[in-house]
Amino acid sequence: MNFPARRADTLFTDRGLPQETLDVRAEVRAFADEHIRPVAHTLNTTPESAEAFPRDLFNAMASAGLYEIPFPADVGGRGLAYPTLATVTAIEEIAYYSPSLASSMYDGQAILVGKTLDNAPGLREIYLPRLIRGEFVGSFATSEPEASTDLSVESLQTLAEKVDGGYRINGTKRWITNSPVADLIVVLCKTGSGLTMLLADMHDPGVTVSEPDLKMGNYVQLTADIQFKDVFVPDDHVAGSENGGLRAAIGSLVLGRMGIGACGVAMGQAAFDFAVDYMGKRKVFGQALARFQHWQFRFADHAMALESARALYQKAAMIYDENGRCDLETAMCKVKGSELAVDIARDAIQVCGAYGFVRELKGPGQAFPLESIYRDAKIGEIYEGANEIQRWVIARSIFGRDLTG
Ligand SMILES: Cc1cc2nc3c(=O)[nH]c(=O)nc-3n(C[C@H](O)[C@H](O)[C@H](O)COP(=O)(O)OP(=O)(O)OC[C@H]3O[C@@H](n4cnc5c(N)ncnc54)[C@H](O)[C@@H]3O)c2cc1C
Repeated sequence: MNFPARRADTLFTDRGLPQETLDVRAEVRAFADEHIRPVAHTLNTTPESAEAFPRDLFNAMASAGLYEIPFPADVGGRGLAYPTLATVTAIEEIAYYSPSLASSMYDGQAILVGKTLDNAPGLREIYLPRLIRGEFVGSFATSEPEASTDLSVESLQTLAEKVDGGYRINGTKRWITNSPVADLIVVLCKTGSGLTMLLADMHDPGVTVSEPDLKMGNYVQLTADIQFKDVFVPDDHVAGSENGGLRAAIGSLVLGRMGIGACGVAMGQAAFDFAVDYMGKRKVFGQALARFQHWQFRFADHAMALESARALYQKAAMIYDENGRCDLETAMCKVKGSELAVDIARDAIQVCGAYGFVRELKGPGQAFPLESIYRDAKIGEIYEGANEIQRWVIARSIFGRDLTG
């Protein structure tokens, strides 16, 4: 597939960012250009199966040191001053070519699993160096068939019963990213009147994973149901503290949401770049599509949206790296990034007409990207906290909890 010039380089400047972030952007872009771009179309259009999991690419990401970026030096990470900012920047660069690779193998693996372990003394020293070296694929499980947005102790049904020396897990988790190929999982369980995050081994005989779900998009992001039947987890595999599971999960999900915002920016930018290039070349009624003021104004609006959403995810990450709290900015960047991806992909397809709608043109043997971007964009508005919940978080800051609940 031919990729056009990246308009972000002329329309947007990474102004005011630390040099280390600019270096990470350049480094991950070079990696993505070399390793992901050539296989992007195959990745984004090959339906889900465990066999299609791009293990070579996962290994290449680990060998290139990309999993060092989010973590401190004592566990083998880079020890950056702004690790979150660098991590979400890396996500944007990976997602430009494959949003579902970025969601599963960076947002899922490095943020949701990695950050949960990073906040789990006793486990972090053992498992984070292994994660950074790419020695296991991890999953992060909160969702269940009957509970996902609502993670209250009343709704969750997966039970970890206290037994001698540890816990015994029984229950079903649903939609769990990477589960068909995962080795380890951090799983949110009911422990009496509270919730606890436990680190379990996916190769335990009591763990059964279904075939990967067949979804509208995000094909690289394999999801499946996991059944736990009498799975034993020792006491020292509590990730965080007993009954501190919800706090641990939410702590990782806040960072994951920034990643979703960055992923949305990447998808929007990729769709924008393709459409702008096409509009300069395609003639209708004797003139380039780019000469029609209707489309000029639409894409001026999209350029503003991209600029705002990128600045927003960068701001959220910088605030987090400086003081650890950024719920409001994270909610904003998740909503803006995910919604602009859908909006720009829809408009890009509209202006490119059939060339936007097609995946592969068999006559000349050409591949096109917008079809998969549009399919992949939608889930950003739903997962890691549906956008309605993010608007609730924002409204809470405006009106106060007394009014919003
Ligand atoms: C590709 C993919 C990957 C995923 N990966 C993981 C994973 O790795 N780990 C994991 O635990 N889960 C994962 N999930 C689950 C995902 O996080 C949930 O699907 C998501 O949280 C929404 O939950 P639900 O689908 O059960 O919707 P529900 O909770 O049933 O909500 C349905 C809809 O109701 C609306 N809604 C909910 N609450 C409100 C409200 N207060 N006000 C107004 N509207 C509201 C929203 O529009 C929401 O989309 C994944 C899902 C997908 C599709």
